[in-house]
Amino acid sequence: MRRLLALILLCCLAVTGGLAEERTKYITQYTNGSRDEKRIAVTVDDWFEPEMLGEFLDVADEYGCKLTLYPIGINVLERDGAVWQRAIDEGHEIGNHSNTHKNLDKASRDSIIAQLNNMEKRLEKALGHPYVMNTVRYPYGAGRHRGTRSAFAKAIYDAGYEHAVLWDVDSTDPKDILRDTQNGSIILLHGRKKDLRALKTILPELQARGYEMVTVSQLLGISPPADDQP
Ligand SMILES: [Zn+2]
Repeated sequence: MRRLLALILLCCLAVTGGLAEERTKYITQYTNGSRDEKRIAVTVDDWFEPEMLGEFLDVADEYGCKLTLYPIGINVLERDGAVWQRAIDEGHEIGNHSNTHKNLDKASRDSIIAQLNNMEKRLEKALGHPYVMNTVRYPYGAGRHRGTRSAFAKAIYDAGYEHAVLWDVDSTDPKDILRDTQNGSIILLHGRKKDLRALKTILPELQARGYEMVTVSQLLGISPPADDQP
């Protein structure tokens, strides 16, 4: 009898141990940071005009703004390696926006992983060393409705990412951006001339309103990317 009880107890322990191993979710999805702190993040996607990056960095520097850049892999060119490195050295961050701006929501698991890994390879080739990104931004935001514990989320997780960063302010009109920005906002811009003009207009005003303009890692309180410079 005692042995039977011991056996039952052992089985119970094994079952609860097994359940504890299961993940309740694969990733975390963010549209904004804390609404209680006067901090925001400016993010700049795609970079179909990579030659604009230097000017974006100049403007950001002028107003003490740390950017988070989400280029797609094919827009990170070897010839631009020095300016991407400058961005990192000046305290900006780079995140993964896929390699070719593919709609990941409609992609297979293998394709999702390949898109993210190929972007990493392009960036590494341009920098000349690995840079371990910590956040993903889905092209078109597609996949956001799948949630954090789906097969889609697992594919993102298996590619090496636990944090998907969306946004709550999406406009190239400075008036709209300034109207919509609040504590914790993540502003979405794109790496092109038109958005550089918007950045030049909004940064002095956001600074005057007393916002600290930080990277998404700082805003969300997550470990930053790792720049493995030799
Ligand atoms: Zn994009």
